[in-house]
Amino acid sequence: MTYDYDLFVIGAGSGGLAASKRAASYGAKVAIAEEDLVGGTCVIRGCIPKKLMVYSSHFPALFQDAAGYGWKVGEAELDWEYFITAIDKEVRRLSQLHINFLDKAGVQLLSGRATLVDAHTVEVDGRKVTADKILIAVGGRPIKPNLPGMEYAITSNEIFHLKEQPKHIAIIGSGYIGTEFASIMRGLGSEVTQIIRKDSILKGFDDDIRTEIQEGMTNHGVRFIKNTVVKGVECVSEGLKLTLSGEHIEPLIADVFLVATGRSPNIEGLGLENAGVDIAATSLEGPGYSTMNAIAVNEYSQTSQPHIFAVGDVTDRINLTPVAIGEGRAFADSEFGNHRRVFSHEDVPTAVFSTPEAATVGLTEAQARSQLGDDAVKTYRTRFRPLFHSLTGASEKTMMKLVVDVNTDKVLGAHMVGEGAGEIIQGVAIAVKMGATKKDFDATVGIHPTAAEEFVTMR
Ligand code: FAD
Repeated sequence: MTYDYDLFVIGAGSGGLAASKRAASYGAKVAIAEEDLVGGTCVIRGCIPKKLMVYSSHFPALFQDAAGYGWKVGEAELDWEYFITAIDKEVRRLSQLHINFLDKAGVQLLSGRATLVDAHTVEVDGRKVTADKILIAVGGRPIKPNLPGMEYAITSNEIFHLKEQPKHIAIIGSGYIGTEFASIMRGLGSEVTQIIRKDSILKGFDDDIRTEIQEGMTNHGVRFIKNTVVKGVECVSEGLKLTLSGEHIEPLIADVFLVATGRSPNIEGLGLENAGVDIAATSLEGPGYSTMNAIAVNEYSQTSQPHIFAVGDVTDRINLTPVAIGEGRAFADSEFGNHRRVFSHEDVPTAVFSTPEAATVGLTEAQARSQLGDDAVKTYRTRFRPLFHSLTGASEKTMMKLVVDVNTDKVLGAHMVGEGAGEIIQGVAIAVKMGATKKDFDATVGIHPTAAEEFVTMR
C-alpha cells in the first residue's frame, strides 16, 4: 500500500513542529495541518506573549527601585494599546518564522482543521490525504467551569487581546497560569483579586516555595481570597458581579474576570473513533468540572492504533513546551531515525513567572519524604535579601532549597523563589539530572557576587 505521506502531523504547535521537522530531516515525506496560526499555544497564546507581558510588568517596580540608586525617574505611564499591538506583531512574526522553518525542512503545510477519517486517512478542509503514520499533536484549550454567567468570563486566550487595561481583574485558579496573570496584571498596575479554593496556590510545588510566592505576591499587592469559590457571575452597572461562597461571601465587583481553572485536550470532533484511537480519563478538580479525556499513549507516545502516535498536551502528561518538543523528537527519532528511544519525564525543570519568580526541578520535600521516609531526607534552605535590594529599600527576598537523600547524598530536588529563578534552576537542573551529590554542589566554586552562588554554599 502506498500513501501520500510517510507522516501526517495534526497540529503545528510545539510538539507537531518539532516532530515534523525531525522526521523530514531523516528523509520522510511529511505534511502538517494547522487550523489556526502556526506556532501553537506557546507561541501564539501561551509562553511567549505571556513572558513579554511579564517583562512589561516588571518596569514599574524597577522605576521605583531606581530611586534607591539615585535615579530620578519621571512619571511613567503604560500605553496599553501600543503594548498589546507590539506583542501581537511579535507573535505574528514568530508564526511566520515557523512557517519558514517548515518550508526549509521540506514539510508541507496544509492550512485548515484536520480530522481522522480512518486509520490512515486525514481530511483537511474537505481534502483527503493518506499517510503511513499519523502524529496527533493538537494540544489543549482552556475550559470554563459550568457556572452561571461564564459568558462574561475570559480565559488566557483572550487576555492577550484586551482592548483596555482592567482596573480590577478577578482571577480564579490557583495553578501557574492564574498565578502568573495575577502577578502580571498587578505589576502592570491593575487591582488584582485571586480567588482560591484552598489556603494556598500552586498545588504540587514544594510547600516552602508555595508559601514564599504567595507572601511575595501579597507584598506586591495581589489580594488573595482563600477557601472560597465563585458560584456565578452577572453583569451589573458597576461591572461584573461575582457571587462567592466559602470563607468569603461578600460579592466581588471587577471589570474583567479571568478563569484559569483548567485546560482540556483538543480531542472533540477529531475522529479518534474512526481511527481506533483510545482515550483515557484524566481528572480536573473543582466545582463545575466533569472528568476530562486525553489520548492514551505508551512511553513511545504510541496510541492504541500502533501507527498513530500522540505527543504534547493532548496526552496530558507534563503540559510544558519543552516536554511536547522532547516527546515529538523522540517519536521522530524512533520511527524515522532508526534510533528508538523514550523521552524521560523525570526531573523536568519548570518555572512560575510570577512576581516573585519561582523555579524548581526534581522532588519536593514532601515527595522525597513520602518516597524515602523522613529519616532519609535532609533539606538545606537559605533566605536572604538580594544585594540589588540593599539600596532600593524593597522588602524582596530570595529563597533557595535543596532536598537531599541522606543515604546517597544525591540532590533530589532544587527549588528557588526570587529574581532569575528560571535562569538559575536551568543550570542546576543539569546537575540534578546527572545525579549530582550535595558534595558535588559543595565542591563547586560560586560566582561572586550572585544569588546563584548560594546553591553551592548552603550548609
Ligand atoms: P499546542 O502548542 O497547543 O499546539 C497544538 C496546535 O494544534 C494548535 O496550534 C492548534 O491550533 C492545532 N490544532 C488543534 N486541533 C487541530 C485540528 N483538528 N486540525 C489542525 N490543527 C489543530 N509551557 C512552558 O513550557 N512554559 C511556559 O511558560 C508556558 N506558559 C504557558 C502559558 C499559558 C497561558 C498557556 C496556556 C500555556 C503555557 N505553557 C507553557 C504550556 C505550553 O504552551 C504547552 O504545553 C505547549 O504549547 C503544548 O504543545 P502541543 O504541541 O502539545 O500543543
